[in-house]
Amino acid sequence: MPALREPWHRRCWQRVCDIIYVPSCELCQESLQEGRYLCDSCRDQLPRIKAPFCESCGEMYEGNIDSNFRCPNCRGLSYDFRFARPVLKSSESARTLIHGLKYQRNLYLACELARIATEAFSDDRLKQALEERWTLVPVPLHWKRQQNRHYNQSEEIARHIGRFLNLPVVKALKRARATPTQTHLSRRQRLQNLRGAIELTRAGRKLDRTNTAGILIIDDVFTTGATVQECARIFAQNLHENIVVVTVMRG
Ligand SMILES: [Zn+2]
Ligand SMILES: [Zn+2]
Repeated sequence: MPALREPWHRRCWQRVCDIIYVPSCELCQESLQEGRYLCDSCRDQLPRIKAPFCESCGEMYEGNIDSNFRCPNCRGLSYDFRFARPVLKSSESARTLIHGLKYQRNLYLACELARIATEAFSDDRLKQALEERWTLVPVPLHWKRQQNRHYNQSEEIARHIGRFLNLPVVKALKRARATPTQTHLSRRQRLQNLRGAIELTRAGRKLDRTNTAGILIIDDVFTTGATVQECARIFAQNLHENIVVVTVMRG
């Protein structure tokens, strides 16, 4: 995987910003430089998803398993994506960072979370996506929610991943209608809630197998997988076979 170094003009601009405003680690408040908002020690301490984990959704399994396996949540389900690869296990620190980006408008955290998400690409199953430069597609947010938040966190994360790994980003999906909050719904209810709520944008309609070898759906958290499944279903209808989901955390 390529080293994650910022280009010189970005580093210069960050140096100027650092003089005006000294950034600090979001978790331990240690002073930092060069546009960083998470110190190396806090970043390394965030619990990662390590094998063995579910080959479909990345849910970790405590114990020894040598063969491929699907967790009880995924058994009996069929997804239109090959697999989802979250990087972080759910932990208080990881949730603090994601919450900060999503609900406290701490946009600067998108870059740190994207840096973490790039670790997914050390999974051998994503080698092909890097070699063939698959397209990153962020999970869309309804414009009303985006208006309140001022940005779509998945889009921001995707943009930074694209920059780090030199992969194209296309806003290929949009919300056709607002969906009620999904937090308290079961997976089945979430899927019903989402039917027809997401559709292709004009740029998305142009994405076919002649101009991209595959689609990487990007989101902050994988919880029940209902939203990313709805996104994947739309691409699968357009005959895309290579669809993988990458998220920062497994909720
Ligand atoms: Zn720290
Ligand atoms: Zn699973």
